[in-house]
Amino acid sequence: MDKFYHSVRLDASLCKGCINCIKRCPTEAIRVRGGKASINNKFCIDCGECIRVCPHHAKHATYDKLDCMRQYEYTVALPAPSLYSQFNNLDDVNIVLNALIRMGFDDVFEVGAAAELVSEATRKYISEHEDGLPYISTACPSVVRLIRVRFPNLIPHLLPLNPPVEVAAVLAAKRAMEKTGLPREKIGIIFISPCPSKVTYVKAPLGTEKSQVDRVLAIKDVYPKLLACMKAVSREEYPTIGTAGKIGISWGHSGGEASGLFTESYLAADGIENVIRVLEDMEDQKFTNLRFVELNACNGGCVGGVLTVENPYVAEVKLKRLRKYMPVARTHMSENSQEIIPWTTGVQYEPVFSLGNTMMESFSRLNQVERLMKKFPGLDCGSCGAPTCKALAEDIVRGEANESDCVYFLRENLHKLSEEVSMLAEDLGEGRKKKEKQEPLKLIKEYIDRISQEMSVLDQKEGVKRDGAGTDESGNLSDD
Ligand code: SF4
Ligand code: SF4
Repeated sequence: MDKFYHSVRLDASLCKGCINCIKRCPTEAIRVRGGKASINNKFCIDCGECIRVCPHHAKHATYDKLDCMRQYEYTVALPAPSLYSQFNNLDDVNIVLNALIRMGFDDVFEVGAAAELVSEATRKYISEHEDGLPYISTACPSVVRLIRVRFPNLIPHLLPLNPPVEVAAVLAAKRAMEKTGLPREKIGIIFISPCPSKVTYVKAPLGTEKSQVDRVLAIKDVYPKLLACMKAVSREEYPTIGTAGKIGISWGHSGGEASGLFTESYLAADGIENVIRVLEDMEDQKFTNLRFVELNACNGGCVGGVLTVENPYVAEVKLKRLRKYMPVARTHMSENSQEIIPWTTGVQYEPVFSLGNTMMESFSRLNQVERLMKKFPGLDCGSCGAPTCKALAEDIVRGEANESDCVYFLRENLHKLSEEVSMLAEDLGEGRKKKEKQEPLKLIKEYIDRISQEMSVLDQKEGVKRDGAGTDESGNLSDD
């Protein structure tokens, strides 16, 4: 398993080098050099922000196509609670669940039902392990990945329980095998996801060695086909197959998970910038009375994932309306579910942002970064292709960029060189003998060569910015 697997990718052929994405990446994982973006796969947490902001659709998420269902003898759909929030005037989740069967799935297992089990397990875990308070939800894989690379001190606060999608997959696979007698490999457990982060979770899970989810579809791909099937279902009599209640459905929006814990001592934040602010405050031990912290990388929670179709705030209202007349919870823990919910592996700190391999090396490189930053203007303009002057300085000490990538630095150099040339020209003008003029002439030629070299670098940079196009250097996560 590649622990830095990513589902967010770059199509270098579509990238225009416009630098829109570099500033929005919360982990400064993107650089634009030679007119093309690239993603550092160790820094990326698959939050999907760059997909949202790229005006040229050069960033996208990878996931499975609908026809993957055909590869299995028996398929079970795992609909995320956020799926229900995509439809207008939906007042019964059973319409969606029966439409999934009509679409071709053999069975459905609601992720919301598994979420009710995780809520119950969380209440139990927190009350039995008060020494680790406050606990941070591990339902959003981007948040767990962010903590893994940037907030090592908070790793002990991660709630060591599997996310609902994993619990749903284990239970769904077990039920399918019992029902059909088929071996596990002939059964496809297929999650319908609101975000790329959960696609990444399935390929490279944290907290468990291997995910029981076999395939992941995007809500936006399923939506049109499902909508047509829902219209047909709603005209007939359909059976009640939903097993999630208010608690399970609420996991689809920010604050929903925390509300199922029946405590006032919680904090819920959504949107990656807010999440980072909360984590920084937690590191500074600003929250002393909290029991639980729910964090979602997307605005509004899972309803705001980039693989959904509805506006996150409208979707949240729809979800709240849908759950209004539901019972509080409809699925409860058994002995079996108690065993499958806890993590089986821990999360290890990945020091990807360190500047060196040893403490000494990191310290000396940090000094180099500080020296370099004094040379740069501190405008964080992004023209160098790095999001900030500090990020450029760090790239330089890692050997991934040059000082001349900074256009201001380059201009200053040109200015100095032309001053030196004019001083030499003055010397020459003072009427030396022909032989004595040879040396300064050689120097002038050298200066002119250097100036024209630096000018061509500058031209290239400005040309890239003007045209929005450049050479064809592809990114680490490019599809090419
Ligand atoms: S630099 Fe490339 S990937 Fe980034 S926003 Fe511009 S076109 Fe999209
Ligand atoms: S998906 Fe990765 S590269 Fe894109 S903004 Fe998020 S962390 Fe940055």
